[in-house]
Amino acid sequence: MALYEFRCRECGSTFEVDRPMQRSADPAECPGGHTDTVKLLSTVSLGGRARTATRPAMAPAAGGGGGCCGGGCCG
Ligand SMILES: [Zn+2]
Repeated sequence: MALYEFRCRECGSTFEVDRPMQRSADPAECPGGHTDTVKLLSTVSLGGRARTATRPAMAPAAGGGGGCCGGGCCG
């Protein structure tokens, strides 16, 4: 779901609509019941934010030197 902003050309009010992105081009009805509305190019508040942050922010806190070599079995 994403938040889209519309403006009614009949009463001039702006309103927001929550809808799936595949329906972003659908007409929206003004809260006052008017259908002559236009979609505003507003910033979409959802999506895209987490995509660039897939890398872990912190390295795993593993105990360094553990495992085989730390135990002396490697030589
Ligand atoms: Zn209206």
